[in-house]
Amino acid sequence: MTTNLQALVADDALLDLALSGADVAPMLMVMVHLGGEESWLDEVSPFITGPWNFHENAPEALKQRMRARLKEILLDYAASNRPLPAEPPPHLLHRMLSAGVGGPIPEEYMPMIREETMLDDRDPKTVEWRTEPRGLDKFKAVIIGAGVSGLCIAIKMQEAGIPFVIYEKNHTVGGTWLENGYPGCGVDTPNHFYSLSFEPNHDWPEHFSKRNELWNYLENVADKYDIRRHIVFDTEVTSAIYNEGAKRWDIATRSKDGSTETLQANALISAVGQLNRPSIPDIKGLNDFAGPVFHTARWDATQDLRGKRVAMIGTGASGMQVGPTIAPDVEHLTIFQRSAHWAVSNPNYHAAVSPGKMAALKEIPFYAKWYRFQLMWASSDGLHASLHVDPNWATPDQSLNAANQKFRDDITAYIESQIGDNPDLIAKVVPPYPPYGKRMLRDNHWYKSLTRPNVTLTNDPISHLTADAIVTKDGTEHKADIVVLATGFIAQKMLWPMEVQGRGGQSIRDIWGDDNPRAYLGITVPNFPNLFMLYGPGTNLAHGGSAIYHTECQVRYIMQCLRELIETGAGSMEVRREPHDAFNELLDETHAKMVWAHRGVGNWYKNKDGRVVTNSPFRLVDYRRMTEKLDRSDYIMA
Ligand code: NAP
Repeated sequence: MTTNLQALVADDALLDLALSGADVAPMLMVMVHLGGEESWLDEVSPFITGPWNFHENAPEALKQRMRARLKEILLDYAASNRPLPAEPPPHLLHRMLSAGVGGPIPEEYMPMIREETMLDDRDPKTVEWRTEPRGLDKFKAVIIGAGVSGLCIAIKMQEAGIPFVIYEKNHTVGGTWLENGYPGCGVDTPNHFYSLSFEPNHDWPEHFSKRNELWNYLENVADKYDIRRHIVFDTEVTSAIYNEGAKRWDIATRSKDGSTETLQANALISAVGQLNRPSIPDIKGLNDFAGPVFHTARWDATQDLRGKRVAMIGTGASGMQVGPTIAPDVEHLTIFQRSAHWAVSNPNYHAAVSPGKMAALKEIPFYAKWYRFQLMWASSDGLHASLHVDPNWATPDQSLNAANQKFRDDITAYIESQIGDNPDLIAKVVPPYPPYGKRMLRDNHWYKSLTRPNVTLTNDPISHLTADAIVTKDGTEHKADIVVLATGFIAQKMLWPMEVQGRGGQSIRDIWGDDNPRAYLGITVPNFPNLFMLYGPGTNLAHGGSAIYHTECQVRYIMQCLRELIETGAGSMEVRREPHDAFNELLDETHAKMVWAHRGVGNWYKNKDGRVVTNSPFRLVDYRRMTEKLDRSDYIMA
């Protein structure tokens, strides 16, 4: 535990500030963890009725008593110089966790919780060597991409002493948080959970911080772990061809200055993500438009939008953030909606982290760890069961089951409360399909923005563009000076535009086509030895959780693969067909019962045949279990 308790108790004002900012549930857990007084659980838990509800319900007098008692406990520890206790005993830990989130925690989640909270500050996901690794100096891995995933595995490989080089197409690290510089860009997962488990950040200025903060975080991570020296920036991998004789990948790169290189690597790790190639819609006349046209992920910051007529095509997560952010500045914003998205409100979405809360996170021992647990629990698997189809449900077009219908009712009521007395607009924005069929968005003042006099939402399909307008099929000409394409990404054509060839010169495109990627656990592919993917097929999270959580599961798994390769001295490691196919069968079967496969929904998860290719259908706890331990029998080592 890294908190400096002596310094904290010596600064009474800071201690009081931290206590004043502490939320009830994490404070309760700290008290019981440090003080061992279980009676507090009985007294406080009736006020914690759910994982998101960890503060507001408790009476002020109770909060004050808790703060006073926690202060005494901290002063007592400091005065006696006793070491802070490690993990509470199992029965108490379980009681504490359940009280903290207002419901029982199933036993199967305990390993996951231990890994996310890291009470003893050690990362239990670290893969240790079993024997003295030999031949490390001759081993070389190539990582493609220096975004969250690339940095995460680079840190773990560096710790293990495995040599690697990262090729990054951009000029610096950050991946998606570098490329998406559009106004309003930010994270939709609570920030104190959306960060590497072994590199928590107590300085997030908001509960859902904006892009610059996330990018900065990744820049700092790269510096802290000294990863930049391993990165070749401004350089793309153009092809990777498996050399069967040498059991190596022959990798070709091209730099921004046009120079090319080839090199060999024992292992190839893709950390390119699913959402890094903008999808430019094939709309007639797009090139005829005389003004600037740019995609959200290629935002043209030189364009001053003030006083301009802006047309925005697309209303997904990116559009949801751009629209309300630019609306106050532009002369007019016309939004072209092909299909409506569901968006929920979160009271913390626009809230700054108060100085007191930041102090609690930084100063109170274990507080940040228990707070992370709260957020993890609140935003992970809790919803999963409600996203399954009830085959007997009477209104399957609009919802899946009773819980899903309740979502529909609640969000619809929320939308109505935001829009007011405008039935036409409400009818346009309430989706016909069940909630969670597309990615659930967070309301970024979207509905309120649509009521602004300078904002028009049209759901008439686009016919074509002229030099100064977007013309819809009903014949209306919507004049515009600038067109913003919030049209998403080419997500299903994974590992593209690289040319990746496995055994026998077989291209990954021949196997996957343009939109049908499959992999074992989303990580390995038969006939492609020593190729490992992060955020590969079937690993996007759509029910909840943090993408970083999934990445860390994959990193642990790949680290075990690398250990296997290195310790056994095997030249190659290739997943067998049978576990790969069985996994994909399970994946498809599970998806078929879930909301995003719903026939009434179009989304970036499905390919043109309706197969869900980007998402994981599994609970986090299931995927963790599947990836926790490498089963050697799944692989051919040669
Ligand atoms: P998206 O969800 O794929 O949305 C693209 C939008 O463009 C949709 O409204 C789509 O309509 C529309 N569109 C596409 N082609 C069109 C065409 N030819 N004509 C008219 N409309 C067209 O893309 P995104 O908003 O960039 O988000 C993608 C993913 O990135 C998200 O789901 C999320 O995972 C991630 N993301 C996250 C955040 C965050 O955390 N805050 C922010 C941005 C992105 P249809 O719906 O009818 O297809």
